[in-house]
Amino acid sequence: MIHPVAVIGAGPFGLSTAAHLRSRGIPVRVFGDPMVSWRAHMPAGMLLKSTPVASNIDAPQRGHDLADYCDAAGIRRLVTDEDIIPIETFIAYGEWFKEKLVPDLEQVRVVSVDRKGTAGFDLKLDSGEQFTARAVVVATGLSGLAQLPPSLAAAVPDGPSPSGPVSHSSQHSDLSRFAGRELIVVGAGQSALETAALAAEAGATVKVVARGRGSVAFGAPPWKQPKLRPVSPFGRAWSLYAISYYPHPYRYLPPQARHYLVRRVLGPLGAWWLRERYEGKVETREVRRVISADVRDGIPVLRLETPGGRLRELSADHVIAATGYRVDIAAMDFLGPALRARLATSRGTPKLGAGYASSIPGLYFTGLPAAASYGPVMRFVCGTEFASPRLAAHLARAHG
Ligand SMILES: Cc1cc2nc3c(=O)[nH]c(=O)nc-3n(C[C@H](O)[C@H](O)[C@H](O)COP(=O)(O)OP(=O)(O)OC[C@H]3O[C@@H](n4cnc5c(N)ncnc54)[C@H](O)[C@@H]3O)c2cc1C
Repeated sequence: MIHPVAVIGAGPFGLSTAAHLRSRGIPVRVFGDPMVSWRAHMPAGMLLKSTPVASNIDAPQRGHDLADYCDAAGIRRLVTDEDIIPIETFIAYGEWFKEKLVPDLEQVRVVSVDRKGTAGFDLKLDSGEQFTARAVVVATGLSGLAQLPPSLAAAVPDGPSPSGPVSHSSQHSDLSRFAGRELIVVGAGQSALETAALAAEAGATVKVVARGRGSVAFGAPPWKQPKLRPVSPFGRAWSLYAISYYPHPYRYLPPQARHYLVRRVLGPLGAWWLRERYEGKVETREVRRVISADVRDGIPVLRLETPGGRLRELSADHVIAATGYRVDIAAMDFLGPALRARLATSRGTPKLGAGYASSIPGLYFTGLPAAASYGPVMRFVCGTEFASPRLAAHLARAHG
C-alpha cells in the first residue's frame, strides 16, 4: 500500500507545500484550520505590513497570486508597494487558494506523530482516526508558540487571558473590547504598534512600553526608499535582497549568527503607513526594561526601569504583551516524545538540511520553525516561494 504524505498546517506554508506536492503527483493528506492564525489570532481591521508582491502564496502553476484573487473576486487589484492589504482580503485570498488547490483539506487536528519502524510515521487525529504517512511536513506556523517574557508571565500563574489582567497579542481578534478602558501594550514591533493604534481608534487610552531609546520607529514610504539599492519584498537594501533571494547558504552560518539574524533582520519597525495613526494618539514610554509585574485588586502593575535608571510603576486596566513568538520543539506536543528526543535541534529549533529535511528521515519543517536554518524570510508569506518547491522536490526524490 502507498502511504500518503501528511502536511500538518493550513496556513500559507501548509497550503503552498501541499499544492507543490500534489503537482508532483504525490498523494497528500492536509490537516488544519485554514488561515486560522490570521482569522483568530490577529486583530480585525489589521493591515498587512508586507507589500502585495511579498504576499503571494507560492503555487506550482500560474494564476494563484494575490492579484489573481483580486481579479477573481472582482475587487481592485493590489499590486504596487503603495497598495495596502487589509487582513480580511488576505484571509479571503488564502481561502480561495485552498478551494482551488487543496479542496480536500481536512479540518481536524493532528494529536500525535510517532515514528513507525522504517515504514514512516503513525499519526493520530482528533477525529479518532489513526493512519500511516510515508513522510510528514510540519507547517504549524505560529500555533502554540506565543511568547510571554518571564517578568509578565509571573503576574499571571494561570496563563495570559483576554479577560484577565494580562494577555498576549495573539489572543485578540477584536480590540473594540477596550473602548473606554486604559491599556498598556508591551513591545515595539509592528504587531505592538498596530495593536496600540487599533485599540486607540476603538476608544481606548493606550500606552506602549518599548525597550530602548528610539525603539518606536517607522519605515520609509516606498517613494523615499534609496534608489541605488536592490529591490526586495521588504524594501531596498542589500541585506534584505540577500536573505530574500539567497537563503541557501544561511544554514552554514555559525549558530550564534543565525539565531541573531532571525531576531534582528526585519526586526521591530512599524510600517510607513502606521506613523500618522500612531503619533499623537498613543503614548510611548521608553524603558530600559520591565523589571516585574504583579496584579493588585485585579489591576496589572508594571515595575519599569527608565532609560536613566530610575524605577517607575505603571498600571492600566489591562496589559497586552505583543512580545512575539519563539520556536521551541518542546512546545510542539503533537510530536511524540521519542521523536522530539531524537530530533537534532539548535536552541529549541529543528536543525534542517537541504530541502527542509530534519535529522529524522521523512520529517520536514517549513515556515517559522525553519527560520533558524533558512533565515528570516521564513517568517513571512513570501518565504513560500523559496521553500515550497525545494521541499517538494526533496521529498519527491527521497520518499516519492
Ligand atoms: C500580527 C502579525 C502580523 C503579521 N503580518 C504579516 C505580514 O504582513 N506579512 C507576512 O508575510 N507575514 C506576516 N506575519 C507572519 C505570518 O503570520 C506568517 O508568515 C504566516 O502566517 C505563517 O504561515 P504558516 O502557514 O507557517 O502558519 P500559520 O498561518 O500560523 O498556520 C498554522 C496552521 O497550522 C495548523 N495547525 C497547528 N497545529 C496543528 C495540529 N496539531 N494539527 C493540525 N493542524 C495544526 C493551524 O490550524 C493552521 O492552519 C504576521 C504575523 C503576526 C503575528
